[in-house]
Amino acid sequence: MATPYKRILLKLSGEALLGEQGHGIDADILSAYADEIKAVKEAGFEVSVVIGGGNIFRGVKGATEGMDRVQGDYMGMLATMINSMALQDALERKGVHTRLMSAIRMEEIAEPYIRRRAIRHLEKGRVIIFGAGTGNPYFTTDTAASLRAIEIEADVILKGTRVDGIYDSDPEKNAEAKMFDTITGEEVLNRRLDVMDLTAFTLCRENKTPIIVFNMNTPNNLLKVVTQSEQVGSTVV
Ligand code: UDP
Repeated sequence: MATPYKRILLKLSGEALLGEQGHGIDADILSAYADEIKAVKEAGFEVSVVIGGGNIFRGVKGATEGMDRVQGDYMGMLATMINSMALQDALERKGVHTRLMSAIRMEEIAEPYIRRRAIRHLEKGRVIIFGAGTGNPYFTTDTAASLRAIEIEADVILKGTRVDGIYDSDPEKNAEAKMFDTITGEEVLNRRLDVMDLTAFTLCRENKTPIIVFNMNTPNNLLKVVTQSEQVGSTVV
């Protein structure tokens, strides 16, 4: 099975970095993720990454506790920068060339996001990490992933999760839950399946960017998804 993908955008949740810990970043998980990304890079793909901030701070949670929502959202965006910097460090230690581009200016630690420059980095074989979400409150890092994927003309968004794919019901609650190999966007909406938030999902649909949901915690899965060497995960077409 030949792969139709060349340029990918990988979305990782911040929460996945928790591992068994209550908060912060699990060094082993971070290192494992860096290995997965390195393998895909070395196989010749152009790789960009968006990582969430849920392990550190979520604006919505702050708001439920009385914090100003916008203030909380900016804190959430800064949380994504902390994770992005940790991932950048893990990749560079493994010899992968990277660039961190931030949607909020912080020039001592990251380049500002400039679309043309991002594409140039990819062409030169650098892994790009897009930090600080979209730079706007009231959005999520899923939406940042969709937006950046469209802007850089990524062939696919790969959503790395801790489940194997998209199921017709919650596999952690229902042993009979059935996983889809492929599913249309329309069916995802009709069945109200939780793939991404609606803003993020709609952006992908309107721009015909496929989404693959897969288990990021299974070793070598990312490479299998990208090369399409095996059926892994669920593809939304
Ligand atoms: N956030 C935001 N705008 C964005 C992206 C993120 O305001 O474009 C904030 C928002 O408060 C969110 C937090 O950053 O709760 C962390 O991102 P997210 O919850 O998407 O992370 P994940 O669930 O993937 O770990």
